[in-house]
Amino acid sequence: MTLLRRLILLSLLLTFAFPYQAFAYKVVLDAGHGGSDPGATGINGLREKDVNWDITQKVRDELIAKGYEVVLTRTDDSYWSLAQRVEFTNAQKADLFVSIHANSHPDGKTKGTMVLYYDNDYPQEDYPASETMKKLTPYSKDLAQHVLDSLLAAAGTKNLGLIPSAVYVARMGTIPSILVETAFLNQASDAALLASDSVRSKMAAGIADGIAAYTPPLFTDSLGHWAREAILRMKNKGIIEGIANRYEPERALTRAEFLTLMDRVFTFNQLKSVCEPGGTVTSIVYGCQAPAEQSYKDLPSSHWASPVFAKAKNLNLLQGYSDGTIRPDQSITRGEVAFLFDRLLQMASITTNSPPVAAASASFNDVPETLWSAKAIYALKNKGIIDGITDTAFKPSQSITRGEIAAMLNRYYQG
Ligand SMILES: [Zn+2]
Repeated sequence: MTLLRRLILLSLLLTFAFPYQAFAYKVVLDAGHGGSDPGATGINGLREKDVNWDITQKVRDELIAKGYEVVLTRTDDSYWSLAQRVEFTNAQKADLFVSIHANSHPDGKTKGTMVLYYDNDYPQEDYPASETMKKLTPYSKDLAQHVLDSLLAAAGTKNLGLIPSAVYVARMGTIPSILVETAFLNQASDAALLASDSVRSKMAAGIADGIAAYTPPLFTDSLGHWAREAILRMKNKGIIEGIANRYEPERALTRAEFLTLMDRVFTFNQLKSVCEPGGTVTSIVYGCQAPAEQSYKDLPSSHWASPVFAKAKNLNLLQGYSDGTIRPDQSITRGEVAFLFDRLLQMASITTNSPPVAAASASFNDVPETLWSAKAIYALKNKGIIDGITDTAFKPSQSITRGEIAAMLNRYYQG
């Protein structure tokens, strides 16, 4: 085996053993009940809210020791409504949600462990789930199964299985969500287990191990998004990146992010600037003007995108605004994106000697042929790279979203 082959094999082995992950998954833990709401009461006088709180804290400590980022809904014995819990969770930009409860049954005999999740195959008409949660069924179910298996193994309780359920906290969120019913407070042997600190520790370890056995899907916040397939393809291709495990598909793309993407697609250092008669619109250069020599007052060399702006300047893509700014963190419009992308295609065509494509006749009501970006918009529309918001509206002045740019680049690579 050559040294190179050994190195390749070694790096593959390392990749499988320690998959690269530069961020911690974020978990929201929810201790059921609290404050004026005690939850179920045990035959031994245990209150559910106290048991839930103790196990939740133990799960938190286990997860933090495993490298997870953990946030709790209630952090003391206070009352939180179900809506508050979900609202809080939705704002966390987390990867998964686990609510921790103990159970009770009127017959006083039922015992065991169950995990509830929302299942779109068993919808309950009177309790509709959020649109996102409907699409999350397989992910929530997968999480529920891992936690159930691990909890049963750790605590030795009876297996009552996975329960498709429309409980509020499992159906109204936007991330894979489950509700764990550890054991029954009003059944003698289960209540004895829940009264034991060491059993509660085992249960917590079981829940944490189950969470650790579950791999959250890439970019949790784009699950169910219309551009998800394009987002995943462009991620696989190394063109787009997320922020930790989020993609933020509905957020406006910034100018700095756009240039970074374009550098990955076109490799700026390999392009030559295209000259045509022109001028400037906003900060975008029409033709070949001498690049402004001054540095931009809002782009310090410490800005993460400073190098790519320097390359873009060499290509005459951008020029500062008249106030001396370049506004790297400002959103970029759909018209600007079309103009710059078309310009870069032309530069790439010169490099590769492929023929330019002529502009087509107008079809968007809001893109008259006199609009500075019209030629680019119709050229890209003809190539199948961009699309309107509707058949007749392109909205050239609207910010492009990160989902839209992923879809556009996906079309470019498929074309
Ligand atoms: Zn409960």
